Amino acid sequence: MAYAYDTSNIFARILRGEIPNSTVLETEHSLAFRDIAPQAPDHVLVIPKGPYVTYDHFCAAASDAEIVDFARAVARVCAALGVEENGYRAITNAGTHGVQEVPHFHMHIVAGRPMGRMLEQS
Ligand code: AMP
Repeated sequence: MAYAYDTSNIFARILRGEIPNSTVLETEHSLAFRDIAPQAPDHVLVIPKGPYVTYDHFCAAASDAEIVDFARAVARVCAALGVEENGYRAITNAGTHGVQEVPHFHMHIVAGRPMGRMLEQS
């Protein structure tokens, strides 16, 4: 599937320095910052700096260096949050059914309380 990247999305604007963010970690290819509307005591978003819309888009189109950088950034964020003992949830929403609000691939790292079941029954 070909994804069209919207350069006006809010995370693209954060990456261009047009709006502020609460940075947790910055690497060559990735940025991690606190979610503006946290749903747990810790809620961090990890994003690649490249123009990828969803996780599958990123995994298919990003370079090996970007993918490794992103994966290591997630690990460093988890270490910084100290989640090893109590755990965390990593979530990435994609598209309409995934209820993705911001069309720049991001991984939510949420921690600091029990998360409950993964999905509500419908
Ligand atoms: P999603 O529904 O997976 O696309 O999640 C988008 C997330 O981005 C939501 O949890 C929002 O609270 C968060 N968000 C939106 N704008 C900002 C912002 N300016 N800084 C940090 N987080 C944001």
